[in-house]
Amino acid sequence: MTATVSPRVLDRLKAALGPVGWSEDPDRLAPKLVEWRDRWRGTTPLLVLPADTAQVAAVIEICAGSGVAVTPQGGNTGLVGGQIPQGEILLSTDRLRAARDVDRLDDVMVVEAGVTLAEAHAAALAVGRRFPLDLASEGSATIGGLVSTNAGGTAVLRHGTMRGLVLGLEAVLPDGQIWNGLKRLRKDNTGYDLKQLLIGAEGTLGVVTAAALKLAPLLASRAVALIAVATPGQAIDLLVRAKDETGGEVEAFELISRLGVELAVRNLPGVRDPLETASPWVVLIEIASARAGAAETALERLLDAALEDGVIADAAVAQSQAQAKAFWALREGQSAAQKPEGPAWKHDVSVPISRIAAFLETASGDLAVRFPGVRVDAFGHVGDGNIHFDVLAPEGGDPAAHAASRDQGARLVHDLVVSLGGSISAEHGLGSMKTAEALRYKTPVEVAALRALRLALDPRRIMNPRVLF
Ligand SMILES: Cc1cc2nc3c(=O)[nH]c(=O)nc-3n(C[C@H](O)[C@H](O)[C@H](O)COP(=O)(O)OP(=O)(O)OC[C@H]3O[C@@H](n4cnc5c(N)ncnc54)[C@H](O)[C@@H]3O)c2cc1C
Repeated sequence: MTATVSPRVLDRLKAALGPVGWSEDPDRLAPKLVEWRDRWRGTTPLLVLPADTAQVAAVIEICAGSGVAVTPQGGNTGLVGGQIPQGEILLSTDRLRAARDVDRLDDVMVVEAGVTLAEAHAAALAVGRRFPLDLASEGSATIGGLVSTNAGGTAVLRHGTMRGLVLGLEAVLPDGQIWNGLKRLRKDNTGYDLKQLLIGAEGTLGVVTAAALKLAPLLASRAVALIAVATPGQAIDLLVRAKDETGGEVEAFELISRLGVELAVRNLPGVRDPLETASPWVVLIEIASARAGAAETALERLLDAALEDGVIADAAVAQSQAQAKAFWALREGQSAAQKPEGPAWKHDVSVPISRIAAFLETASGDLAVRFPGVRVDAFGHVGDGNIHFDVLAPEGGDPAAHAASRDQGARLVHDLVVSLGGSISAEHGLGSMKTAEALRYKTPVEVAALRALRLALDPRRIMNPRVLF
């Protein structure tokens, strides 16, 4: 692999792609070389924009033959910096935009890597189906990026992560060969599963060019509520009750800390807290059913029983779609609401659901001792055991000093997470941000096996070389 790319290689790439298939225009490159929160900035000798799988293969073949490194990029919404090149060729999937097939009989949609999640939702809806992956970056995040980060989001509780939603893949492997694995099978037990290796590989094992995705039936009823609870333990009690009450129709179960609610109300225009009780924690629940009226009935029964048993303190049930959207804005605006408060130590962690309460209590307590005054804003997909455990500077504290202690804070949180049987990256991946940290917790046996796999497919390590093991 070379740090500088020879003019000969650049000319070959340009010739393979034609005049509209590449760019060196600084204005065009600029938004692709900075992460949306400005945490990573990058450089590239050339932006390549292949129009189809054959052109992706041509690019990778040239790069592999010359030992030139490549970073794939979709919507640039990744949160761990893996999509920002540091001198590599930047391969954008912007032009891989076709929905090749949407099939009601197979309940499958085959879409190209550059299709956004919102476009995939619309394509499924057009044939009376839905693609059940939901996350706040849906307008920009692409299918290739979602596959490559094994994205999760708010409906994992019911539908799983991308690992469970991808039936087949088409990809260009690191030597430039095209692998057509676009199967539509629910059952295919024929040995090693190459698509699962590529899912979550963060662009290190090739370029995903298209995916066959599972579709689900449309929903006939949907009920959303914000619920006041005193402790995370009560939230978990409510989760168990909700699962029992609905027989698996809990679509989302999210937790927000009091600080998170206050920051959203303070910093986000139009966001308000509909609850009368200022409880330490708030749950956002969404129940969804293919049967008309079933979600509303289940939610009512759940809340009545939980109020009577003292599990919850208060609840606000959305009376319209607009209100449901407003409730979700409180949850989905959490990261944006933190921004005016200065730098936050962000931890995207998971623990077994049974240990969430212990994690939150111990982590908050230990941080308060070690870093007096820091403010914990914990929120997230608690129904999956996934907490975004963010730590803000003390009120009126020095943002630079807080930022400087980020690594010490992360060590404390990650050590605790691992001791509780959890993961230091629940859904955002490792990217350039967390690879070194992950290496601290993986065993040498696992790291050696993973490196052997990578080298077998990419002996010159040209694909996203800064990322993963
Ligand atoms: C507001 C907001 C909310 C979010 N919420 C969630 C959430 O709830 N759950 C969640 O899991 N994530 C969430 N994310 C993170 C992000 O949206 C996901 O990681 C998403 O999957 C990234 O898709 P992308 O197209 O933007 O990929 P990029 O950011 O462009 O790339 C991400 C990684 O995938 C690689 N990659 C991209 N395309 C390809 C390809 N075609 N082939 C091979 N490698 C590729 C890149 O090299 C990089 O390593 C959120 C982000 C934002 C900004």
